[in-house]
Amino acid sequence: MGNLTDIVRELAAANRILAHEGVVDAYGHISVRHPDDPKKYLLSVSRSPELVEPEDIMEFHLDSNPVKDDTRPKYVERPIHGSIFEARPDINSVVHNHAYDVIPFTITDVPLRPILHSARRMKDVAPVWDIHDKFGDTDLLVSSNDHGRDLAAALGDGRVVLMRGHGCAVAGTSIADAVQTSVYAMVNARILLQALMIGGGKVKYLHAGEITAPASRRDQLKGQNRAWETLLSRAGISL
Ligand code: MN
Repeated sequence: MGNLTDIVRELAAANRILAHEGVVDAYGHISVRHPDDPKKYLLSVSRSPELVEPEDIMEFHLDSNPVKDDTRPKYVERPIHGSIFEARPDINSVVHNHAYDVIPFTITDVPLRPILHSARRMKDVAPVWDIHDKFGDTDLLVSSNDHGRDLAAALGDGRVVLMRGHGCAVAGTSIADAVQTSVYAMVNARILLQALMIGGGKVKYLHAGEITAPASRRDQLKGQNRAWETLLSRAGISL
């Protein structure tokens, strides 16, 4: 990963991209593991994602307590981030969003699984975490480390975990990976919903081996990420 200044700028940009793509609205957030200390992560103060600037980025310990005294308001649901970083050393960026297209798959028995080649990065079926199972009647927000750790356990070694009646959490190896997984999980959900409607419930999903097959363009794409550049450009950002 790059240096701290670059990562902070990239994280602020990622907030704006997620807003521009409709993955997040006034709510939702993206974090990144601290490039110099894997026991810390970076996350904005409580702001609408489309307004996030580099100055808004704060440092947190993995228990989601702030590293420095800072009176600015903080996201209540930051345990989503700390708990996933704690459970998954392979993960460097986490998105929480309420993308509307994903919600039907959180409240029905219809699984959200990849049907689209660009959604291969979401891996296989996204598990559904129901806060009610362990915590009973709550406001559904992941507001404690107990909630966060239970959510992280449901994510397992996957990339997307759905949150019943709420949204989802997405885990990526980098900011760009977490953003693109969030975008394509949402697009995949939208297209799957359409396909289920016109297909009378019969849909061809990606085969398990297609999800894990190595990317044929990997070498060609070294040092260049066309999708990430497009997302930046669409959101009017140059880094
Ligand atoms: Mn939420």
